[in-house]
Amino acid sequence: MLTFTHRTALVTGAGRGIGKAIAETLAKQGVTVICVSKSADSCGATAAAIVAAGGKARALAVDVADGAAIAKASEDLLKEFPTIDILVNNAGITRDGLLFRMSETDWNDVIGTNLTSCFHWTKLIGRPMTRARWGRIVNIASVSGIMGNAGQANYSAAKAGMIGLTKTLAREFAGRSVTVNAVAPGFIKTDMTTEFVNNPEVAAKILEAVPLKRFGEAADIANITAYLCSEEAGYITGQVFSVDGGMAM
Ligand code: NAP
Repeated sequence: MLTFTHRTALVTGAGRGIGKAIAETLAKQGVTVICVSKSADSCGATAAAIVAAGGKARALAVDVADGAAIAKASEDLLKEFPTIDILVNNAGITRDGLLFRMSETDWNDVIGTNLTSCFHWTKLIGRPMTRARWGRIVNIASVSGIMGNAGQANYSAAKAGMIGLTKTLAREFAGRSVTVNAVAPGFIKTDMTTEFVNNPEVAAKILEAVPLKRFGEAADIANITAYLCSEEAGYITGQVFSVDGGMAM
């Protein structure tokens, strides 16, 4: 067991995949988890599963691409929870295509959902966190933000942006004992990657670049994220942890 003393976490994109695994892993450690996703059904299902397993959770449907919606949700939450100690910025989308075919809408949607959302949540939830002088922020980036990936100019730019944001905020918040780290997953089996994982030819091509020769599981990302959110990780900040089967070494 890791140490979490009466902590509350907000996890975005907690309805499915990696975010759901992070929410469930934190809840198993006794953390109260606010599960955010776009659809009320998906965050509702995650929160219900946590409560059914004996944990503490509540669901919150928010479109993280909408800064005003985040502001309203944060204002309401901070009336209910005096501080939110842990923030995991995980919600993300892809809209892939080579640059010359990429629309401005696809560029803006990906930057807004993956990167600008982190700016809004961190500004709003981070202020009481820094006042409380304890906090953990984990941004779920991607190997694409480290290595680049043809066909993902929007996504790679957003994820590289999250890494820059992580390092800067680690410096800004360090004096308040709020740590800020990033986890950079490689290919993890979730709805986001189903079309690659389930296509044998594409899967084989991808795995050529993965030294461990398999796709990762959502739990691989959830385990390190939970550690980074724990008391034990208090001397780690501004770091990017690749969890990618060795792809980006
Ligand atoms: P996923 O299975 O597609 O789940 C994405 C989650 O994000 C869903 O819960 C979804 O909400 C939520 N979301 C998307 N847009 C949102 C919005 N505008 N407002 C609120 N919630 C929104 O994705 P995943 O594979 O778990 O990925 C999670 C994170 O890991 C993403 O940031 C992704 O970029 C990153 N990542 C994934 C991989 C991978 O191989 N899977 C690799 C590198 C990085 P709904 O449930 O309501 O739709």
